[in-house]
Amino acid sequence: MAKVIIVGCGVAGPALAIFLKQLGFNPVIYERTKGFADAGLSLLLQPNGLKVLSLLPGLFAALPGKNIVSMSSYSTLEEDPGLLGKNDVPADMPEAFGYPMRGVRRTELIRLLINTAEAQGISIRWGHRLSNVEQNEAGVTATFSNGFSDTGAFLVGCDGLHSATRAALFGEEPTTFLELTQTGGISPTPSDMLDHAYVINWCGNGAHMMAYPISDTHTSWAITLREGEGRETWRAVDQHEAETIKRSSIAQWGFGASELIKTAEKIVKFGLYDRPELHSWHKGRIVLLGDAAHPTPPVCLRVNTRPSSIPHAKDSILVKAQTRHSKTFIT
Ligand SMILES: Cc1cc2nc3c(=O)[nH]c(=O)nc-3n(C[C@H](O)[C@H](O)[C@H](O)COP(=O)(O)OP(=O)(O)OC[C@H]3O[C@@H](n4cnc5c(N)ncnc54)[C@H](O)[C@@H]3O)c2cc1C
Repeated sequence: MAKVIIVGCGVAGPALAIFLKQLGFNPVIYERTKGFADAGLSLLLQPNGLKVLSLLPGLFAALPGKNIVSMSSYSTLEEDPGLLGKNDVPADMPEAFGYPMRGVRRTELIRLLINTAEAQGISIRWGHRLSNVEQNEAGVTATFSNGFSDTGAFLVGCDGLHSATRAALFGEEPTTFLELTQTGGISPTPSDMLDHAYVINWCGNGAHMMAYPISDTHTSWAITLREGEGRETWRAVDQHEAETIKRSSIAQWGFGASELIKTAEKIVKFGLYDRPELHSWHKGRIVLLGDAAHPTPPVCLRVNTRPSSIPHAKDSILVKAQTRHSKTFIT
C-alpha cells in the first residue's frame, strides 16, 4: 500500500484521508496542533460540499447541523430600514441538486471527520508542524519542526491559508489583507427565529451581518466591516472585547440582529486574507488541496457607504457575493 503523507487535519485533510483509504492507499495525517480543539465558528455547507461528504462511508448519517430552507435580507439604514427581499431558494435545493444547504459548527464537523478517519484505522499524528519537504523519483520526505521526518510515495498539503507545503513548493509569499474583518459569534437562536431555518442578511452603512442556524438551538453570525487591521486568528476574544462588541452600534440593529449579538456565548474576530492564484497546484509527487491551493474569503462585499447620494436608499445597497472568489461555505 503506497503511503500518502497528508499535512493538516482541518476539513480537507481527514476527508481526503478517508477517500484515499477507500482507494487502497495508506494515508497518514500530520497536524501541527497538539490535539483536537474547539476553534472557529461555523461553515455553511452548500449542496456540492454535502455531496462530497455523502461519499465518505459512515459519515453522512451522523452529520451535525441544520438544513436551511429560506433566505431574507434587511436594510438597517436608519433612514430606510425594512425587508429587502425574501426567497425560498434553499428549500428547492434538495430537488434541484440532490442535497440541501446546511449550517454546521466547524468543530463538530471536524470532530466527525476525525472520528470517521480513526475508525478506519487512519493514523493522525498531532504536534507535527511541517517545516520542509524534499522529493525525488522514489518518494517525498517531510520534515517537521520537532525533528521527526517521514517518507511517503506522495504528499498532499492540506495545511490551509499559511500552507508550509505551498511555501516549500512555490516559495514564500505574503498573504493579502483584504481590509475587511469579521466579528462572529454563536448564540442561542432567538425564540422568534426558531420556527424557520433561514439565512438572514442585514445590510447597513458600510457594514454587513449574516446569520444562519447550526443546530435546533443555536445560530452562528458574522459581521463584516472595513477595517485597516485584522489579526489572522480564530481564537475567541476576551471578555472585555466581547462586552465592547455587545455594546457596539451594530448590536443595536433590528430584525433580530441585536439579540443575537448581545446573547453570544462565544465571539471571535479575525481579518480576511487572500493569496494570489497559482498556475499549478502540484509539482512532482506533491499536491495542494483546500485553502493551501486556493484560499477564498468567506464572502466578498461591496456596501455603498453613501446611500443618501442615491434617490432610493434600498437600491443603493449592493451586497455582491463574487462567484469566482466566494467559497462554498460562508462564516
Ligand atoms: C482553527 C480554524 C478555525 C476556522 N474557523 C472557520 C470558521 O469559523 N468559518 C470559516 O468560514 N472558516 C473557518 N476556517 C477556515 C476554514 O476551515 C477553511 O477555509 C476551509 O475549511 C478549508 O479547509 P482546509 O482543510 O483547506 O484548511 P483549514 O481548515 O484551515 O485546515 C488547515 C489545517 O492545517 C494545519 N496546519 C497548518 N500549517 C501546518 C503545518 N505547517 N504543519 C502541519 N499542520 C499544519 C492547521 O492547524 C489546520 O488544522 C478556520 C480555519 C482554522 C484553521
